[in-house]
Amino acid sequence: MRVAIAGGGLAGLACAKYLVDAGHTPIVLESRDVLGGLVAAWKDEDGDWYETGLHAFFGAYPNMLQLFKELGIEDRLQWKQHTLIFNQPEKPGTLSRFDVPDIPSPINVIVSILRNNDMLTWNQKIRFAIGLLPAIVRGQKYVEDMDRYSLLEWLRLQGVDEKVNTDIFIAASKALTFINPDEVSATIPLTALNRFLQERYGSKIAFLDGSPTERLCQPIVDHIIERGGQVKLNVPLKQIVLNPDGTVKHFLLRGLNGAPDEILTADLYVSAMPVDVMKVLMPQPWAEMEFFKKLDGLEGVPVINLHLWFDRKLTDVDHLLFSRSDLLSVYADMSNTCREYANPDKSMLELVLAPAKDWIDRSEEDIIAATMKELEKLFPQHFAAENPAKLLKSKVVKTPRSVYTASPGRQACRPTQATPIANFFLAGSYTLQRYLGSMEGAVLSGKLAAQEISKVQPAIADASAPDLQLAAS
Ligand SMILES: Cc1cc2nc3c(=O)[nH]c(=O)nc-3n(C[C@H](O)[C@H](O)[C@H](O)COP(=O)(O)OP(=O)(O)OC[C@H]3O[C@@H](n4cnc5c(N)ncnc54)[C@H](O)[C@@H]3O)c2cc1C
Repeated sequence: MRVAIAGGGLAGLACAKYLVDAGHTPIVLESRDVLGGLVAAWKDEDGDWYETGLHAFFGAYPNMLQLFKELGIEDRLQWKQHTLIFNQPEKPGTLSRFDVPDIPSPINVIVSILRNNDMLTWNQKIRFAIGLLPAIVRGQKYVEDMDRYSLLEWLRLQGVDEKVNTDIFIAASKALTFINPDEVSATIPLTALNRFLQERYGSKIAFLDGSPTERLCQPIVDHIIERGGQVKLNVPLKQIVLNPDGTVKHFLLRGLNGAPDEILTADLYVSAMPVDVMKVLMPQPWAEMEFFKKLDGLEGVPVINLHLWFDRKLTDVDHLLFSRSDLLSVYADMSNTCREYANPDKSMLELVLAPAKDWIDRSEEDIIAATMKELEKLFPQHFAAENPAKLLKSKVVKTPRSVYTASPGRQACRPTQATPIANFFLAGSYTLQRYLGSMEGAVLSGKLAAQEISKVQPAIADASAPDLQLAAS
């Protein structure tokens, strides 16, 4: 079957990949001149990459890891030591580590928490562990039910010490969702914690060895094209045109630079566009349906990704760091963590600024100035010293609407990949799947959409096409 997919982010590309594998013919239509959506990256005038977001992969990403395997590109993931590293604002320039020993889960994570004495006292650790018990014992159903509470409310209900919130959960919440624990649904960090506690290497982090556009999206595109699918750039979906019975008649594609609009007809249609765009393009008759009305409850959250190139090496840490700063979330010295960005003499810090709602409309100069002030606390030896490190150049990438805002109650608004419209499907990390708005969630959503499509009619081109398997989770 010919399947038209609007959106060339990871969800759209994964959907197309699994459709060609099942013998279908996907046509991916991406509005921009770059693939990847929220993982898109560009080269500047010096040939240096800059990205929409600093991206970390986790051991607990079974579908993403399976995709790497299927594409034969597993060697592009640069796995780091199994540890989580936090800055300590009260002791500027120092780090605190949760080293996870190579023993079975959940003992490995528990040992890492018990061994860390920088951030929590024994009393706080014990109360934290007791608070977590229901999530561990009662499993995912309990975790889903906690969507009615913010993380902060849930921590208070469990009697967990406020210091666990300020020391650990503010950093975790900002890193996972770009919002603070008083705004984030308890379900999100509890889901992540559950995965980390259940899988031996769940919290192990990897970086890609280069830009996601070239090193991850391109091999997916090659795979799709080699098997008869198509991936087109600069083709924005303008309108979803309906038949009288409410099913999709065709996609109307906007002609760019004076070119006329075009009609694309297919057997089935997928939106892998961000939820905010899907809401704008929602055909009027669908807007009244309960299934689509729920999307009104979802909205992309603002986030800012900064790249700062310095005249010297600021650190030799080859890992993701949780800044624990009010302004920033996670950061990494990409000159250490990423093979293609490597530089033995100069640092390139990539930093996520979140929550970004008060910053998204501010000037780049303001954003960089505020970030440089934070660096004085993160690297006092280089910025508060006599001969401070010099900023050589910078790039700021603002995303006013990124992943869906994961506030309490959002789980009920996330739509399934199959819709009430027989020939229309949804993919995207905001759709209902067991992971939050993440790369893993995007890939899984694309795979689930391809599975739903394969139910409509069995694969026709290749009788030997393998069934779609969800990675063990
Ligand atoms: C700063 C930042 C840091 C992040 N860090 C991490 C991380 O460390 N780990 C992690 O797992 N995840 C991370 N994420 C989240 C992750 O990037 C996303 O969840 C995931 O990439 C979303 O993929 P998607 O395909 O669902 O949506 P998108 O990437 O938003 O893709 C949607 C696509 O649709 C296209 N489109 C829009 N309108 C149209 C139209 N009219 N016609 C055709 N196409 C259209 C867009 O251009 C885009 O390419 C981060 C995100 C950001 C922004």
